[in-house]
Amino acid sequence: MRTKEKKSKKRLIILLCIILAIPIAWILITRLEGGKPSIKLDLLSQTIGASQELSISVADMKSGLRRVWIGLLQNGMETVLLEKDFPAKGLIVGGIKHEEALKVKIDPDKRGIKDGKAILRIVVCDFSWRHWFKGNRTYLEKNIIIDTKPPEIDIISRFHNISQGGACLVVYKLSEECHRSGVYVEENFFPGHSGHFQDKNVLMAFFALNHKQEPGTKIFVKAIDRAGNTSKAGFNYNIKRKVFKKDVINISDKFLNWKMPEFDIYTQQVSELTIKNKFLKVNRDIRKNSYNKVIKLVEKTDKVLYWDGVFLRLPKSANKAGFAENRVYKYNNKIIDRQIHLGIDLASIAHSPIPAANRGKVVFAGSIGIYGKTVIIDHGFGLQSMYAHLSSYNVEEKQMVSKGEIVGRTGITGLAGGDHLHYSILIHNTFVNPIEWWDKAWIKNNISSKINKAESR
Ligand SMILES: [Zn+2]
Repeated sequence: MRTKEKKSKKRLIILLCIILAIPIAWILITRLEGGKPSIKLDLLSQTIGASQELSISVADMKSGLRRVWIGLLQNGMETVLLEKDFPAKGLIVGGIKHEEALKVKIDPDKRGIKDGKAILRIVVCDFSWRHWFKGNRTYLEKNIIIDTKPPEIDIISRFHNISQGGACLVVYKLSEECHRSGVYVEENFFPGHSGHFQDKNVLMAFFALNHKQEPGTKIFVKAIDRAGNTSKAGFNYNIKRKVFKKDVINISDKFLNWKMPEFDIYTQQVSELTIKNKFLKVNRDIRKNSYNKVIKLVEKTDKVLYWDGVFLRLPKSANKAGFAENRVYKYNNKIIDRQIHLGIDLASIAHSPIPAANRGKVVFAGSIGIYGKTVIIDHGFGLQSMYAHLSSYNVEEKQMVSKGEIVGRTGITGLAGGDHLHYSILIHNTFVNPIEWWDKAWIKNNISSKINKAESR
């Protein structure tokens, strides 16, 4: 009897031991994990400015985050930028937080940090019981440069006369290499680029006013250095007001029945619409899509001044419609639409050969909605010429063309009622008046003289 009792007592103790051993073993295994926390530092550049915020993400997927310490070492001095302790769920279970995204601002002025070299140090610990309960630790050190000085902008070009819907050039010198600089015409940014002048800190920016931008439009140069320090500089400019012509276009059923099937490929629903609504869809939606496509295409521009001298106009041709003409569309004597014509229409004999207006690289040769068969040539630094409604083209993308080289033939593809060339000039994302580029004196006074002057500095 006694031995039986003893035996069952022993069994009970073993069972209790097993029951206790399982959670203890589990706690020891999980709490003694050796997985180190991770640190992700997103630095755009090694140079860090006054206003720049550092994005740091830390994570520990096992026992959780315990502590983050971020500091800066400079000339033997240590400055704490951030210290953060994370709470634990309980004595045994580990940390609550497994991931954290941190934003740290160095604020050199406030903290007495000077411009120059420094070391950014990040330390993260987790809730593991390893290292005598101190946890696993990850260090990250990064050599950085503190730069709080904004770039200086020196405007080199002197006169800036610009017409509504016209182009202009500004040449400027920066005190340091910048991440981004250029001209702002209100909200619209025209990037400046180095590459043409021997001094790589001398840049030029072609910029433009669109047809709606009148005198009073704000224009300035802005530069952002690699540390994010920003400067602005105004310059002397004079805006000339332009009044653009109005034109009435009568839309006939004959024209619609002839032209609209060409656009069926762009929208499926179009076929269910009346012929008038089909036209409105083409003249509004497809026009807008075509415009956006051109703007996207001209983003590709080389930092090489390919062109030289006056731009060519289609030989022996008549101006059929001008730049920024306000077009009123009438159908059955009623106004049904209004659009702005952002090029010049030139008509000669049908299928006339079209010379490249100047030297450049073909950025596009293909079909674009209302423009039909189109060729776009990049003349460098954001200046491009566009040829639309062609019957054919004989150039291909990336091909260099010389001034006067035949790129295609005039036609009626796209939204054209008769054989003609739709000729446009763009400065980055803005259509400008091509007339300026056909004028030798205008080019000399507004563009070439400024470039020559900056070259001979
Ligand atoms: Zn046109």
